[in-house]
Amino acid sequence: MSPSDQQSLFETEAERWELDDQNQQLIARVVFPAVLDQTYDYRIPDALAGEVEPGRRVRVPLGHGNQTRLAYCVEVDTQPATRRKLKDVASVVDKRRLLSPSMLRLTRWMSERYLCSWGEVLEGVLPAAVRDHAGTRVAELLSVPPEVIERLNELQLPAKQKAALEALAASPEPLTATDLARVAGCTTAPIKALKEKGLVQLQRERIHTRVVQEAETLRESHLTMHADQQKALSAIVSALDEGRHETIVLHGVTGSGKTEVYIQAIQHVLSFGRQAIVLVPEISLTPQTKQRFRARFGNVAVLHSHLSDVERHWHWEQIAKGEVSVVVGARSAVFAPTPHLGLIVLDEEHESSFKQSTVPRYHAREVALQRAKAENIPLVLGSATPSLETWHRAQQGEYRLVEMPDRVFSRPLPDVETIDLRVEFLDRRQRGALSRPLVRAMEETLNRGEQVILLLNRRGYSTHIQCPACGETVRCPNCDITLTHHRVEELAVCHYCDYRIDAPQQCPACQFAGIRYSGLGTQRLEHEVQTRFPHHACLRMDTDAMQKPGSHERALAAFRAGEVQILLGTQMIAKGLDFPNVTLVGVVQADTALHLPDFRAAERTFQLLVQVAGRTGRGDKGGRVLVQTFSPEHPVIQAAIRHDYHSFAQGELPNREMLGYPPYSEMVRLVVRGPSEAQTEGFAQLIAQRLRSAILEIEPCRVLGPAPCPITRLRGLYRFQVQAQSPHGAELRAAVAKAVSDVKPPEGVQWIVDVDPLEML
Ligand code: ADP
Ligand code: ZN
Repeated sequence: MSPSDQQSLFETEAERWELDDQNQQLIARVVFPAVLDQTYDYRIPDALAGEVEPGRRVRVPLGHGNQTRLAYCVEVDTQPATRRKLKDVASVVDKRRLLSPSMLRLTRWMSERYLCSWGEVLEGVLPAAVRDHAGTRVAELLSVPPEVIERLNELQLPAKQKAALEALAASPEPLTATDLARVAGCTTAPIKALKEKGLVQLQRERIHTRVVQEAETLRESHLTMHADQQKALSAIVSALDEGRHETIVLHGVTGSGKTEVYIQAIQHVLSFGRQAIVLVPEISLTPQTKQRFRARFGNVAVLHSHLSDVERHWHWEQIAKGEVSVVVGARSAVFAPTPHLGLIVLDEEHESSFKQSTVPRYHAREVALQRAKAENIPLVLGSATPSLETWHRAQQGEYRLVEMPDRVFSRPLPDVETIDLRVEFLDRRQRGALSRPLVRAMEETLNRGEQVILLLNRRGYSTHIQCPACGETVRCPNCDITLTHHRVEELAVCHYCDYRIDAPQQCPACQFAGIRYSGLGTQRLEHEVQTRFPHHACLRMDTDAMQKPGSHERALAAFRAGEVQILLGTQMIAKGLDFPNVTLVGVVQADTALHLPDFRAAERTFQLLVQVAGRTGRGDKGGRVLVQTFSPEHPVIQAAIRHDYHSFAQGELPNREMLGYPPYSEMVRLVVRGPSEAQTEGFAQLIAQRLRSAILEIEPCRVLGPAPCPITRLRGLYRFQVQAQSPHGAELRAAVAKAVSDVKPPEGVQWIVDVDPLEML
């Protein structure tokens, strides 16, 4: 094997495992890409001694049939040869290691943190394209050995052979015969002759069949930063210069210039030859974001979900080789194999899309924190509305908080007014989604040739019981969660603790007889807008309307170009869009998210309102926001219309503390699903029981449930949940692991463990 094969792709220090004692044997510790939560030892036969290394995959025999299986080598060790009879590693799959030692440590940490097997994490973290070597083939590469180079001038060769040999010697890297023929301007015949004479050496390597190339963008220079930006930048730079880990929370209102701070911090990182990773929500991976980074840095890799396997693999290798300075991507870019990482930035750190909903159910923010700690580099968490988890840690002094309370050029934040839907409801005959003040404001805006954004964040699941006359919603006395209407049994049920009452026929607060659940969705809103504004183009943006790849970009481009005057949609339209001509934002129903059966309902509502309000007033024309709500005096709505994060946090944190929710406790949620209701519930009960006995030592700690999940039936399966909370996260997770380690669900019943759940439905 040639020295270049030995050299690792990811780190420079080459490790060799050798035996100086004949009584020792080399062993490979492997994990299987499966639920098996164990490592297995295999003997490394002498023939494979140089090739087996941690981070490469191998094939090893398993079970009685000794069929070989794919496994990840995670460690190489020595053991007394006599100790026990081990099976041999059968073969090595990867030419180079796919994971560096630090990535192996990170993935092992994830398996402990998120209660899944190491093998599952490895499979989840490595892109399939990388595992399958997408877009590569094995090729024969030619180079000139050093001893031939020494005698190059003395060699007596036919002219063509001599020319080919000189061209190859001059090439900075090995070439295929075809490439050499092209470079030397000859056929492959002289090259074949050189091979036969032993004047060139051969090595077999995987090479890429196609190289992805992006057009160069016009470069822009940096902006001169305002004082707050400067302050934020120096906080990051001082951590960088001192070579220490620190988490810096950049709390800046929308339009305060956070991105410029990231960019200049990255500039600093690149100046000492390191790389940076910028994580953004998938929805923000727009051409504009791409353009913004490309305009400042030459070699930026943008990893979005529409990459082909070939492109993904190619990017991965470029990053691993250190050819990429800045990686911009969604959640999974936190695993980018940068060899000398200098900084990680999470923009919109509060976004729930940073949490993965399949195994491994990790949160990119926590993984980034762990990686930044391990690599001793700063982590920047930016947001106009930080998650309460992050805010709390900043308050506790764990993170450093930097505030940017003003927009650039001191542009004012838009005026936000509420429209009381209770008054509107009592006043009107005809019931539509748009109140008269909102319709009037829309007319005025459109008449001026300006644009409107309407937000209606109605998720598929939104039945809640609410009195249209007084705004009262029916809530659980134990959990401070709205009760959900179960129509079959005519019950109102708490989905956390299973508290239930008969579905009320009238409002429990004001006795109004017309109590109802609301059912307005974006499609009905679209219809109403089209009817009211037949002369203006309206575009709906939600997951149903944006199925096709590229549809999101096309919609935004049409809106940017002014072909569309009214953009309406779900939270999809609330994030990161920057349209100077948008001067009115209407929130059709601010209460929809507020009353979901989720303890984060208030936080989500606040975030959404502030984010969507930030979509207007970004140009010179100013902006206005109208919020339709049944609860204009609700403290969350009040805080949002004043853009007042501090008072929101001050009001909300005590609720969390009182009820023992995050950030005051950590949480594990177990969801059981199965085709038979009784069997599924029975298994959930068993889990809850075991959990209750496993947590006896932990104080405080509570286990809720089993209760039906808010979505009681999904894809034909019944769903039950058990929820455990404690401030002692590590102990809690250990107890859960112990409680479920050997439970066997009945046939057809499945269950999942979600650590730090964000999805509560
Ligand atoms: P945020 O990420 O906080 O929402 P951005 O970084 O997108 O804010 O900045 C908002 C707008 O202000 C952008 O168009 C950006 O180019 C511009 N901007 C940011 N910082 C400056 C500055 N120091 N001088 C001039 N313009 C700036
Ligand atoms: Zn309850």
